[in-house]
Amino acid sequence: MFESLQDRLGSILNGLTGRGALSDGDVAAALREVRRALLEADVSLEVVRSFTDRVREKAVGAQIVKSIKPGQMVVKIVHDELVATLGSDQVAIDLNAPAPVTIMMVGLQGSGKTTTTGKIAKRLTERQKKRVLMASLDTRRPAAQEQLRVLGEQTGVATLPIIAGQGPVEIASRASQAAKLGGYDVLILDTAGRTHIDEPLMQEMAEIKSATRPHEILLVADSLTGQDAVNLARSFDKRVGISGLVLTRVDGDGRGGAALSMRAVTGKPIKLIGTGEKMDALEEFHPGRIADRILGMGDIVSLVEKAAENIDAEQAAAMAKKMQSGKFDLDDLAAQIGQMQKLGGMGGVMGMMPGMAKMKDQIAAAGMDDKLLKRQLAIISSMTKWERANPDQLKHSRKKRIAAGSGTDAADINKLLKMHRQMADMMKAMGGKGGKGAGIMGKL
Ligand code: GDP
Ligand code: MG
Repeated sequence: MFESLQDRLGSILNGLTGRGALSDGDVAAALREVRRALLEADVSLEVVRSFTDRVREKAVGAQIVKSIKPGQMVVKIVHDELVATLGSDQVAIDLNAPAPVTIMMVGLQGSGKTTTTGKIAKRLTERQKKRVLMASLDTRRPAAQEQLRVLGEQTGVATLPIIAGQGPVEIASRASQAAKLGGYDVLILDTAGRTHIDEPLMQEMAEIKSATRPHEILLVADSLTGQDAVNLARSFDKRVGISGLVLTRVDGDGRGGAALSMRAVTGKPIKLIGTGEKMDALEEFHPGRIADRILGMGDIVSLVEKAAENIDAEQAAAMAKKMQSGKFDLDDLAAQIGQMQKLGGMGGVMGMMPGMAKMKDQIAAAGMDDKLLKRQLAIISSMTKWERANPDQLKHSRKKRIAAGSGTDAADINKLLKMHRQMADMMKAMGGKGGKGAGIMGKL
């Protein structure tokens, strides 16, 4: 397991709470960790350098939001810069051209060109009702054209008939002709790759390009590509001129560094990602998800954002103290539920905290959904002050009265009391583990 950037920055910076702004020195220490995390995520060195320069500019002098730790502050700045670099807008495949619109797939051998050709063809056929023709120009690998034909059969998409003995450019011209005559909306050209970038490959791509004038040229690249990503993307873009990127094998265990490298050096949008071998495993690119992956953390960023908007720091600190001391009564529970509702419900809070996913499932299993939270707030507000302070001493007669007052029944009251007990235990346990922090509020 990687140590998340969140944790690393926390140990460097969290001692600074209470100071107004991030200083040069704070940021320099943090950036060393950021650099290390990016390199571990396989971001290319040159991209790491320019990236950390930009983060430095934004971070030095940034005001530390009250109730947020400086480490989290830096993580947020890094995250936002990652998203900005990755491209915050969705860019779809552009079909805005006279039919047949030609899409040319380029990339190294084994990067997923043929698979992605099939996936895109299937998607355009099913979702956009386009008539699509696919053609394999891969005459280098013996079974390559056959591979695409089989995919066409599987997905119900037409493929150009195979004629033995033709070269790639010849096939490309024949495909263009066939797409025009056949009245197709889209033609996808699946080209041959090489194991590495070389001149013959670039020459072949350039010739196919001038023979077919593609509207889109998509560079297909394995998301597990490491330091080569920059060179790969830059070469294809310089020699062939790409219009977008498709990242494949995002379902693998890579950390997403290639996405950042390739986007940063080409400035071309990542249009789609491949998330599996099946023909449906193609998704839109969400920069936030890749940024999280690179940082190796739960969605702490949105938790920080929401906290900055919604939570009063003093109240949170007081709450944390109470929980730690083990005094957590129903008034506290009501306040806690109120804050949770602001943060998008119980599931919302748990889902955002690293390592809390399991607890989230337990909560779901216990039926503690947001509707229930509302009902429980109603129950608490039907109690007297004494009852709220002494939840374990409620006799049946009191429960009956509270139930009547809140439009619930005794079983609901018992459920609430059980939840309160569970939460009090949970808070204590989290407080113990986290050292200084206690409970959910203490983690913020
Ligand atoms: P090409 O040489 O560039 O045409 O690559 P192929 O399309 O033939 O793909 C090579 C291998 O990668 C095949 O076994 C594919 O099933 C697999 N593959 C392609 N895209 C993905 C993906 O997004 N995820 C996973 N797990 N495998 C993929
Ligand atoms: Mg292929």
